[in-house]
Amino acid sequence: MSTHPPSDTLFVHANQLDPLRQAVVPPVYRATTYHQADPWNPPAFDYARSGNPTRDALEQAMAAIEGGMRGLAFASGMAALTAAFLLLRAGDHLLVTRDCQGGTQRVLRGVFSRFNIEVTYVDTDQPKMLEWALQDNTRAILVENFSNPFLHVADIPAIVQWAHAHDLSVWVDNTFVTPYLQNPLTLGADLVLHSGTKMIGGHSDVTAGLAVTRTEELGRQLYFIQNACGAILSPDDSYTVHRGMRTLPVRLRQASQTAMALAQTLSQHPAVSDTYYPGLPSHPGHQVAVDTMHTQRGFGQMVTFRLRDVGEVHLMAQRLRLARIGAGLGGTETIVSLPELHCHAALTQEERQARLITSDVVRVSVGLEEPEDLIDDFVEALNA
Ligand code: PLP
Repeated sequence: MSTHPPSDTLFVHANQLDPLRQAVVPPVYRATTYHQADPWNPPAFDYARSGNPTRDALEQAMAAIEGGMRGLAFASGMAALTAAFLLLRAGDHLLVTRDCQGGTQRVLRGVFSRFNIEVTYVDTDQPKMLEWALQDNTRAILVENFSNPFLHVADIPAIVQWAHAHDLSVWVDNTFVTPYLQNPLTLGADLVLHSGTKMIGGHSDVTAGLAVTRTEELGRQLYFIQNACGAILSPDDSYTVHRGMRTLPVRLRQASQTAMALAQTLSQHPAVSDTYYPGLPSHPGHQVAVDTMHTQRGFGQMVTFRLRDVGEVHLMAQRLRLARIGAGLGGTETIVSLPELHCHAALTQEERQARLITSDVVRVSVGLEEPEDLIDDFVEALNA
């Protein structure tokens, strides 16, 4: 079995059969405690917060798929990000992608600022510009790839080279790109994070966070935080995320094809002023994506566009028949988000303005509908 880029086969067979009964999928272990016949030689699993076989199967599969040493599953994407931030000490400085999702900014501003963690937001699609933000106390850079909502593409190898030369740890929130289209650890990053609620879970029915470390040592530190702070993924949710993960390649190939067709259509529609999709050669990050991702598989399922007339947003939202409107992404159904009301609602009006996230911006998570049906849905909503 080839390892990287991870094949469809690896997604399906990243785990061995269940050792106890040879079950082809991991059994759900709900027990919170385990009998210790010899308490001086405790078994592999003793207490559910510290370890659970169903969660362990998912964590090991994620580590194999990302090409890392240790996988860890958390109760949400925010719990995984929070665990990463807890690696820092009071007085440390962190660099973060400027247009990252609102939740990351909310926790850094509302929680970690109280513990004296300093943050500078930087354009991680411009690695040559990072130097200005560097401080003596900078410890790490969190790259959100693609960025949200404009899908800027980060050059992970270039960022890793720069950051490691300055002794910074590189953390990549690769939720939008997914482990099928890129594996940052194999490009030298130290930690990869995902909201498992999105493409990996894949069906809008589970909330989860995933982290994989490049080294055993960072894995040990992050495990300490996971166990100490306790934001673990439940056994049932671990099972559900694991099931979603197995079909990620098939879903993403299909959704990426439709996303490309939708982006091409939108880019030619008179009501649309800008289309942001890394698969379009006109996108500023297109070449970086081709150079650093497994783009022969696709460019992902996220498409963002800007309407010429802000009044059209309301009309379009009312006229869409298939696409759902709301805050999620990565499911089988197409979801339209209005960043101002949904993913970036946690920002102030001024912060949104500064990031050009205005009321005319629309973000689409493309689902698995018949491509023509979906494109017709958007074209009819915009034509009307
Ligand atoms: N990272 C990214 C890129 C996201 O889009 C989100 C949520 O939208 C999160 C992290 C947080 O994930 P969760 O909602 O699972 O806590």
